[in-house]
Amino acid sequence: MNICDKFSRAALYMRFSTELQTENSIDTQRRCCVEYAKREGIEIVCEYADRAISGKTDKRPEFQRMVDDIINRRIDVGIVLVYKLDRFARNEKLHHRYEEVLQKHNVLLFSATEPVNSDKFGQRITKAVMAVMNEEEVRKISENVSRGKKETAYKGLWCGGTPPLGYDVDEKTHTLVLNTTEAKAVKLAFELRASGFSYSYIIGELNKAGYKTKLGNRFGKNSLTDIFRNIKYKGIYEYNRAASKSPNGTFNRHASKDESEIIKIPGGCPRIVSDEVWDKVNGLTGSANRPKGDYLLSGLVKCKCGATMQVNRRKNRDRNRIYSSFFCPEHKSTGNCDGKEINMDTLTDFVVYQLAEKIFTPAIIDSFKTAFPALNKERLTQAKRKVKVLERKISTNDTTVEKYMKAIENSTSENSMQLFVNKINWLTEENERLNREITEKKAALPADPPSTDEIMALKQDFITFMLDENNLPICKKCLQSLIEGIFIYDDEIKIVFNI
Ligand SMILES: [Zn+2]
Repeated sequence: MNICDKFSRAALYMRFSTELQTENSIDTQRRCCVEYAKREGIEIVCEYADRAISGKTDKRPEFQRMVDDIINRRIDVGIVLVYKLDRFARNEKLHHRYEEVLQKHNVLLFSATEPVNSDKFGQRITKAVMAVMNEEEVRKISENVSRGKKETAYKGLWCGGTPPLGYDVDEKTHTLVLNTTEAKAVKLAFELRASGFSYSYIIGELNKAGYKTKLGNRFGKNSLTDIFRNIKYKGIYEYNRAASKSPNGTFNRHASKDESEIIKIPGGCPRIVSDEVWDKVNGLTGSANRPKGDYLLSGLVKCKCGATMQVNRRKNRDRNRIYSSFFCPEHKSTGNCDGKEINMDTLTDFVVYQLAEKIFTPAIIDSFKTAFPALNKERLTQAKRKVKVLERKISTNDTTVEKYMKAIENSTSENSMQLFVNKINWLTEENERLNREITEKKAALPADPPSTDEIMALKQDFITFMLDENNLPICKKCLQSLIEGIFIYDDEIKIVFNI
């Protein structure tokens, strides 16, 4: 076998000692090494695992068997792969003695989690730097903790923090269980969305029904976005989606990790909505999901001859755009009418603008301006009070985090460090959630009484809302009740309103 082939074959060596680690650790080590090997194009040809034995001794049966196999050429590998170098040996003397044995037989020592492989000089520098840089040490511990969390997630166990709406955490089994009241809210939101209702309509319905977010607040737009994207609702347990903090400590909650790093376990938590509904909600993009033959003006458009005009859809010359129009069936089938076809988009825009003109009249604007201040004051006071409470919570958490950081600096035991890191992670997550809540609250803060201009801007909102295809069901209902008919004449479009 040539040397290149040899260096793509590895023996896996794993070790755990009871005093520091849990039974899970062999699994963690193996998974991590397998991932590493896959990434580096290394084939693992055999494994050795010492259980409950310290790395300070070389009296380890599996370790000795491996060294023996290498010396006597019973295995043909170019690499010994370990999860961390301290799995191989815990003291320097042993480490060097056995690394020399490996080198004599052209075998390199690789670590799946540390940057330096079989390079003593580099290793020492790395070690020294790591020892000096406390922060770096903290990061490493952090990585270990999230690795532990990953393990937990593989088993479908909840990793800490507040569970999503619709679930509680079972204190004994640490798994997600249904919260039936909240699950109803989730179900309602999904079903409304799947039927094409807008976010603001759904938020209104949820709040009207008295449902609350996990933090006990009223629903806002952000809470809905998070709900609709969560695949736990179709029974798939997911962990590790949110990207880590960037080096400067900022956090982008929308950033998501590479798909390969996300752990997904189908059936790992109770299902709340069907695959069909979930997929429909997450595929709702514009006209793609609009039911065929359903249009804002359906049934309302009449030709000058009295016939109800029908919709024709065809691909445009550039093939990507669909051209839709209303046409007179009499014209097409019998030739009895010479009524012209009319572009559907243009007509829809025209009708909606005319309707807005009809609704946003000076009289209506005036009555709104009078009612607004009283309405506003109450909401403003409440919202401000809530933001203050949240800000206080965040500041308390920050102080605690600082305390734990100090504790880590002074800590000598790996166990207590992990404990503090766990707590810091938890508090950081909590603060991220609180910050989100504040942003939501502030965005919802009512402003000063609106000026006539602002109300006129509302008119534009109204038009946008009516023309948004996602709102089709409710807008259509509204339009059908406000408009009697739209009559298309040769030189005029006449809209008969019900208002
Ligand atoms: Zn006609």
